Parts: sequence; C-alpha cells; structure tokens
Amino acid sequence: MTDFHYSVDPDGVATIIWDVAKKSMNVMTIEGLQELEAHIDTALADDGVKGVIITSGKPDFAGGMDLNVLASASGAASDDPAGDVFTAISYIHSVLRKIERAGMDPKTLKGGKPIVAALPGTALGIGLELPLACHRIFAADNQKAKIGLPEIMVGIFPGAGGTTRLSRKMGAMGAAPFLLEGKLSDPKKAKSAGLIDEVVPAADLLARAKEWVLSAKDADLVKPWDAKGFKMPGGAPYHPAGFMTFVGASAMINGKTNGVYPAAKALLSAVYEGALVPFDTALKIETRWFTHVLMNPSATAMIRSLFINKEALEKGANRPAIGDEKVVKLGVLGAGMMGAGIAYVAANAGIDVVLIDAEQAAAERGKGYAEGVLDKGMKRGKVSEAKKSEVLGRILPTTDYAALEGCDLIIEAVFEDPKVKAEVTARAEAVIPKDAIFATNTSTLPISDLAKASARPDQFIGIHFFSPVDKMLLVEIIKGRETGERAVAKALDFVRQIRKTPIVVNDARFFYANRCIIPYLNEGMRMLREGVRPALIENAAKLMGMPLGPLQLVDETSLDLGAKIARATRAAMGDAYPDGDVDEVVFGMVDQGRLGRKAQAGFYDYDEKGKRLGLWAGLAGYFPPAADQPDLITVQHRLMFAQALEAVRALEEGVLTDIREGDVGAILGWGFAPWSGGPFSWLDMLGAPFAVSVCDDLEARFGPRFKAPQMLRDMAESGRGFYDSRASKAA
Ligand code: NAD
Repeated sequence: MTDFHYSVDPDGVATIIWDVAKKSMNVMTIEGLQELEAHIDTALADDGVKGVIITSGKPDFAGGMDLNVLASASGAASDDPAGDVFTAISYIHSVLRKIERAGMDPKTLKGGKPIVAALPGTALGIGLELPLACHRIFAADNQKAKIGLPEIMVGIFPGAGGTTRLSRKMGAMGAAPFLLEGKLSDPKKAKSAGLIDEVVPAADLLARAKEWVLSAKDADLVKPWDAKGFKMPGGAPYHPAGFMTFVGASAMINGKTNGVYPAAKALLSAVYEGALVPFDTALKIETRWFTHVLMNPSATAMIRSLFINKEALEKGANRPAIGDEKVVKLGVLGAGMMGAGIAYVAANAGIDVVLIDAEQAAAERGKGYAEGVLDKGMKRGKVSEAKKSEVLGRILPTTDYAALEGCDLIIEAVFEDPKVKAEVTARAEAVIPKDAIFATNTSTLPISDLAKASARPDQFIGIHFFSPVDKMLLVEIIKGRETGERAVAKALDFVRQIRKTPIVVNDARFFYANRCIIPYLNEGMRMLREGVRPALIENAAKLMGMPLGPLQLVDETSLDLGAKIARATRAAMGDAYPDGDVDEVVFGMVDQGRLGRKAQAGFYDYDEKGKRLGLWAGLAGYFPPAADQPDLITVQHRLMFAQALEAVRALEEGVLTDIREGDVGAILGWGFAPWSGGPFSWLDMLGAPFAVSVCDDLEARFGPRFKAPQMLRDMAESGRGFYDSRASKAA
C-alpha cells in the first residue's frame, strides 16, 4: 500500500504527497498513518532535509477518516474492544504530536523542522486535524473547497486531536460552531475565522509553502499551548468568562439534543476537562471520550445509516444493472404544491421541464414557486441572477399536452383522485415517446391500480416525494405489480440527478414512510384520548430524539388531511379498520375548526404568523387528564414501537426488501430518532429478546397492534439481529 509519496528537492524541502490509489478522495486509515509516520521519521532523521510540506496529489486534500474503519471499531473481535480502540486512537495522536513537535528539544523548544500543510481543496475531519498539528496551514484559493470538522453530523466528534487543538487555538466559544455544529467554510472564511493561516493562489500553493518552510524560525514552530504561560483564549472553565461559556454551552447542548446524542456531550466534556490540564493530558482525555463515543452503538448506527448506507443507496445499490437512464426532458402534470416543487428541483438540476395544469394561471403559479425559492436563495447570496434565469428558463408552464412531446419521464401530481389521474395518464401517453416512463406521485392510491389506466404498465411506477419537495431529502420509489426494471432504473437515475436519496419499495397501502409514521401519530392521539397529559406525550417523543412530538406533527400535516386519509382508509378496509378511536380525536378537532398550524389552531395555539405558542389550553376540556399518568418509559415505548413494528411488518411482507432502505428512509423520510440509526438499528440495539418482551407487555396492556412480528420472535430465538442476519446472508 502506498497512500503517501515522499521526495526531497535540491533545496532540502521534503514533500509528502497524499494520494490514495483508486479513490477520488483521500481518506485516512491506520495503515496510511503508519506510512505517513515513516516518512516523517525519515525527514526528521535526514540532516539534508530542512522541512516538510504535506500536500495532496488530488484536487482535494482529504475527506477524513475512512468511516468504515470507525464504524467497525467497536465490533472488532477482541477481549477488550474498548482497550483496542483507545490504543488505536492514541497511536493517531502520537503521530500528529510527533509532527507538531517536529524533533524539537522538549525543554528549549528549539531545533525542530518546520512542517506545513498545503491544501489544494477540501479538507475535512482528520484532513483538517492533521494540518492543525502542522506549523502552518496554506490553502489554495479554491471557492469550491470545504474546510471543517463535520464528525458531529454522523454521531462522533473530532477525535484525532481536532477537539483539543481547535479549542486551544480559538477558545471554546470560537471553536463551538466548528466542533459542535460541524460548520464548514471555504478557504477565505476559514482563514478569517482562524481555522487556517493563509489563502494563496492555487498555482502558488507549493511555492508559498516552501518559502515559509525555508524561512521559519524556531519560535514559529512552537504552538501557543506548548509555550510557557499559555492561557486558553476566552478563558478556561474557572475564569469568569470561561465559566459563562461552558455553562451556556452545556445548557444549549442539552436543549438541542435532549440528551440523546452522546457525541455532543462527550465533545463538550473533552473540551471542558481538557482545558483544565496540560496539552498532552488533554489529548488523553480526548482519546478517552472519543473511545467512549465509538463504543456507543449509536455512533456505529449513525455512521452506518447516515453515511455508508445512505451513500450506497444514492450510488444505486438497488438499481437494476441496465444502461444509463438519465432524464433529459421531464413532464410534470399538476402544478400544485407538489408538482411545483418537483418542477423546481428538476430544473435546478439542469433538466428541461414542461409543467402542465388545467388552467394556464395555475401552471404559471407553479413556475412562480420556483421563482420564489430562487429569490430567497438570491437574498442569501446563494443564487446568482444568471442561475435564476437559467433555472426559470428550463420550466415551460402550459395547459397544452402536446408540449409533452419528447419527454422521457412524466411525473403526475394532480388531485388524489383515481379518475383524474387515469385521465391525465391517457392524455400524456398519447403524446410521449413509446419508451417514456410514467410516474405517479400519489401518497395513498395503490400503484398497481393506477397502472391500469396505462397502456404500458411495465413503464408505470410510483415516485413519491415528501413535502416540501425542495427541502426533504428522501424519495420513495414504488414498484407496482407490473413495473419493469427500466422504470426502476429511470426513477433511480432521476433521483440521483436531483441529488436526493432513494429507497425502492413494493406496492402496499401507504408504501413505507407514511405507513410507519401514521401509527406514531395515531398512538399520540390515542394516548391523548386515554387521558395522558399532552405535554407528557410530546416530551416523551422528543426525549427519544424524535424531532417533533406526534401532536405537533399532526398539526404540521393538518387534521383535515388526517380526516381525509382516515375516511379513505376506512372505506378501503371496512370492518378491519383499526383506528376508530383515533378518528374521534381527529374528527372532533376538525369539527372545532382546529385544523392545525395552517389554521393557526390545532393541538397547539399559534400566533397570526404561524409561530407555535404552546399546547392549546382547551385540550383538557375535551380530553381530561387521568388522575394516574403512565411512566415516561411506557409512553416512549408506545410511540417508538408503533413505528418500529410497522417497519418490521413492512419488511416481513416484502414491501421493504432491504433494511438499509428501511433505516435510511426512516431518518430522512420522517425523522425517526436519528441517533438510533433507524428502526432496525434501534431494535438491534435493544436486542430482539428484550424487544419481544416489551411487545408482549404492550400487547397485553394496549392491544394487538403491539403483537411482536414473527420475524422479531425468530430473531429472539436465534439470538440474531437484523444487521448480522443481513451480513450473514450477504456472505
Ligand atoms: P394540489 O391540490 O396542491 O395540486 C394539484 C394540482 O393538480 C392543482 O394545481 C390542480 O389544478 C392540478 N390538476 C387537477 N386536475 C388536473 C388535470 N386534469 N390536468 C392538469 N392538472 C390538474 O395537490 P398536491 O398537494 O400538490 O398533491 C398532488 C399529488 O401529490 C396528490 O396525488 C397527492 O396525494 C400527492 N402527494 C402530496 C403530498 C403533500 O404533502 N401534499 C405529499 C406526497 C404526495
């Protein structure tokens, strides 16, 4: 393996070029680090070498640590996995510290060799932690480059010294956005924030780095924290200013994470405890906290779902192996809320769009939506005038179906009425090429039924967006009974073009995401009806890491939509309909005009701007709180199992065919507690035997909807989890 290449020029400047073979972006592994260390040793030992430049052979510097290494860290077969993780992280620290001290005498701090980082482009994670250990950081003036420490986004924190170095470099307050929020900056902003030292023209990058190496003095190599009398910028924890920072940060983190993301708290602990001791001890503290986080199953699950599997799905893990089906011209039928959003995201991705509605004014309004989004982008400086007119120029609003000629994909988003949908399907198919794919954005109607209106049911598919289309990251692709492979490939290629994450599911009532979210909403409303205090319901959900409590989420999606879906479901299911008790709550609220946020009145009160004020005081009159309130865990189990069991049933019934899609889809589609990695990861964390025992208890107390699915019982018997079953099947 050669990830790093070493050479020395005639002036005695060594260059170490990071260039991992067969990867478009450098990522660090332990073996890579060993190679780097060997080159640093060579440079330090060679009297002919005056200093070192560490740079990249690729357009970017590095994407970070290889997340596969981190995801498997805690799972290694060993008697002491935590000890092994601790040793591995300590090794990373020792190499970076060797670079930082660069052979200088530890007492006089003299005699070291200058080592600089020269970043041609993006530098993330350890790709910035390594430069932070160098004596100076040069970055090319590359607007596309992103510099920062995004670890917190996948449930870990910068554990290769970045936490300790950055908080000492910028102070806890200054470092907070970079450490706690994973803020990324372009080189110029990174420089003004103090993250890096110099931004230079790309062509001069190595020359400027070399110039510095050749002129650096002993004092230039000593980091502030290694110099005598170092004081933490902004104050250490017992300094009055520092005290305020840490108290505030602690409160802010608990407020934002509700205590369910272990990484944020561990990060703050590492900064706080590290600030009280000398640098090398602080690094040890950081190592301990980082080990603690990596050993937490939440870290493994978040890395797996939010990074590794999300990316695999985006790259087409479940795409049929057929040629490119990229969309060139898209027809959108229906320019309402969804159609307008779809037209915008497609045009924004460079696709020509014909946007059709029954009235010209409605079609124009649909295009107007795109204009509104682009205008907002311009106000924030993210969209240029040229980009705006380019995107708008791609959308043709019309009532004329003849304009659909040449479209290779149609997405229909007209009223949720099978008759209207059948009519527009026939009208479009009369015009579009024979091999075009027709997709419906229906949220409730079976795809196989709608496909009956199509002359080519194998080219008919569901592409289900979530609202608001431009913000939501997930797209559900639904195969009808007769849907063919080319339709699936087309849908997946389209989703890739618009840079969203796809899951592919089979046709069944509510598909996957809505099927799982509805039981969550219903369980919340059931409890309300039983007399559970609404604040208990909502807080229990948030303390499990759900972004919105079930009552708030009903308010957001509106009670009249709930009533509409309830009516349709009852009509379709007849006597088997299980949610009559929930309907009492829904219809009762609708009768009082409390339709949710859009009516400024729902389970919550709102002001005239739609800002949520608090739970509606009148609720107690309709749903009097019981004298005996359930314990928090019971409420949480009801809310979480309502969703997770539905996900398992979807898998059992073959609606879902891949648990990775089940987990990624749950987090991106409806915000299923992201810390858990998704419902299947969560059940794995609980362990099937415990999960089944909770189901048995909930079933006895609250009814058959909590009956443990056979698949879960089988796992409890065999001692397996969803992910090890998947791994063994793959093997
Ligand atoms: P909407 O009422 O905002 O828009 C529907 C549009 O279709 C209207 O502009 C209407 O004029 C137009 N239309 C009706 N008949 C037409 C015809 N014959 N020819 C051309 N245009 C016609 O509805 P929406 O919320 O955008 O939903 C559209 C579809 O998307 C529905 O199938 C819905 O179930 C689905 N969906 C909605 C959401 C959501 O959150 N609203 C989410 C996912 C999917």
